[in-house]
Amino acid sequence: MSDTPNNTKANGSKRAKKASTIRIGKRYRANRLDGNYDAIIIGSGIGGLTTAASLSSAGKKVLVLEQHYTAGGFTHSYSREGYEWDVGVHYIGDVGYPTMTRKLFDFVTDGKLKWAAMDKVYDRIFLGDESFDFVTGKKQFIDELKQCFPKEHSAIDQYMKLLSQAGAGMRVFTLTKLFSPFFQKLLVPFINFFQPKCLNKTTYEVLSSLTSDQKLIAVLTGQWGDCGVPPKKSSFLIHSLIAKHYLNGGYFPVGGASKIPENIIPKIQSSGGEVFTYATVTEILVEKGVAVGVKMADGTEIRSPIIVSNAGVFNTFNKLVPSAISKKFGYEQKLKFVKPSCTNVGLFIGLKETSESLQLPKTNFWIYLDHNHDKNIDTFHADPTKPLPVIYISFPSAKDPSFEQRHPGRATIEIVAPAFYDTFTQWKGTTWGKRGEEYDSLSDFFAEQMLEALYKKMPHLKGKIDYYEVSTPLSTEHFCHYDQGEIYGLEHDPERFKQGWLQPKTKISGLWLTGQDILSCGVSGAMIAGFMTAAQILGVRKGFDLAKKALSEKKEPVDGWVVSEP
Ligand SMILES: Cc1cc2nc3c(=O)[nH]c(=O)nc-3n(C[C@H](O)[C@H](O)[C@H](O)COP(=O)(O)OP(=O)(O)OC[C@H]3O[C@@H](n4cnc5c(N)ncnc54)[C@H](O)[C@@H]3O)c2cc1C
Repeated sequence: MSDTPNNTKANGSKRAKKASTIRIGKRYRANRLDGNYDAIIIGSGIGGLTTAASLSSAGKKVLVLEQHYTAGGFTHSYSREGYEWDVGVHYIGDVGYPTMTRKLFDFVTDGKLKWAAMDKVYDRIFLGDESFDFVTGKKQFIDELKQCFPKEHSAIDQYMKLLSQAGAGMRVFTLTKLFSPFFQKLLVPFINFFQPKCLNKTTYEVLSSLTSDQKLIAVLTGQWGDCGVPPKKSSFLIHSLIAKHYLNGGYFPVGGASKIPENIIPKIQSSGGEVFTYATVTEILVEKGVAVGVKMADGTEIRSPIIVSNAGVFNTFNKLVPSAISKKFGYEQKLKFVKPSCTNVGLFIGLKETSESLQLPKTNFWIYLDHNHDKNIDTFHADPTKPLPVIYISFPSAKDPSFEQRHPGRATIEIVAPAFYDTFTQWKGTTWGKRGEEYDSLSDFFAEQMLEALYKKMPHLKGKIDYYEVSTPLSTEHFCHYDQGEIYGLEHDPERFKQGWLQPKTKISGLWLTGQDILSCGVSGAMIAGFMTAAQILGVRKGFDLAKKALSEKKEPVDGWVVSEP
């Protein structure tokens, strides 16, 4: 999802005129390159920026090349008509106290990024006319669930136990990424010892072994949109990762998502590096089996001994690495075992009143037709004119304590719903903002459903919307270079988590991977991957020093901290 005035309206119809004023990073020009770089990173998502900042912290001069007009990948924000929206950050967990995630954020931003706690109810799951709250804190979360499902106490306890085991299993899974696929195989007995057997079954398989209560299963999987895979297809590993991630509450970056790249870039610059935007890489140069540099869209070749791709594995091995090389090193074959994640439509809304006066909550809404998550998405896929199977609503201006000061008298709402790329393929290759009436009316069709869902929950907002615009999978394709408009990189199904080759080091000497495809989607998943890539590039001793430096920092908890560890 990204900024897409393909269908912009204000109380009826008004086209967006002004471009976004949020531009993080420096515009690329070949004559702005500054001598030799120790490493080149393709893409400025949180994964790429984390690798860059971590290498910079070890004294490396790093060049980050981003094709978009602003840095940050899915952590970028954009503004239009006096409003500001975030595209891929609605809430982040595990940052209210000194966890690894929080320490890494502090490390890469030198402690400059601040966090605001959301409401103690961070997610509200609506199943038809009923609603269920996800309450901050493990104990509070359990108590609330048990109150709603009095006959399911034992299933809920077992579920929580599995989440804890999955946490330990995930740490082992992460560590194995540092070993070659060959050694990963040798480590299987060790991995099996620490990982619960259910970890890579489907979420539904695991949950239905704990309970037959379909409503409870639907509530527990009420955040499935956070990875984009419904319970019968998702790996329990990603389910537990997400559920656990938010148990101690949801947090929002003060100043909006763009504060993430904005506060990381100075660290990269402090070692002589730079983050360039409008900098499209068209090829990774490989000579005698070794990656030696990149070729830019303007034909410039930039050389470096370390090339890191944050562009996702499909882009990397299908587009950037010459196809003969991808084939030779087996990547063409390996890509057959993974598929692109889901895609979405989005609605970015502006209102000319404050969040407070509009009573916008700091709670996310997940609105489902009923408890049949898988069936509803399948029905929708077969016929996109059927009702949207889930509509997610976030109220960023309410979550960000600095919003009112930055945009006085205004408020914003962001709505996300699933979509399928094939619904939009006929417009592939058309120009952003000029895709024609049929496309606009399809966008309108989805916008109307999303607005209707909003008004149903908050009827007092009727007539208050000043401006909105729609994004489609083509927007994601255009702004973040994901070919199928995928929003979470690779699909998070059980097969994906069996792929040992999804790791920082590639078989092509000098070429490394980073970002969400290595570990998991999510800002922290991509960030941890980014850190691992840097640590592995630096080698055992320097990598260990880096980890010591980054993870030893202790930070004060922010308001809303909940003591109980999941
Ligand atoms: C709608 C939506 C909502 C989300 N909500 C949340 C949330 O609430 N919480 C959460 O934790 N996560 C959320 N996520 C997921 C999270 O944003 C992503 O998983 C994460 O940011 C991905 O980071 P990344 O480093 O892997 O890469 P990306 O952010 O995907 O960045 C990759 C970058 O590479 C660039 N690139 C690609 N090809 C080239 C090229 N050839 N040359 C130069 N540059 C190139 C792209 O332009 C892009 O900027 C959401 C995502 C979406 C889309």
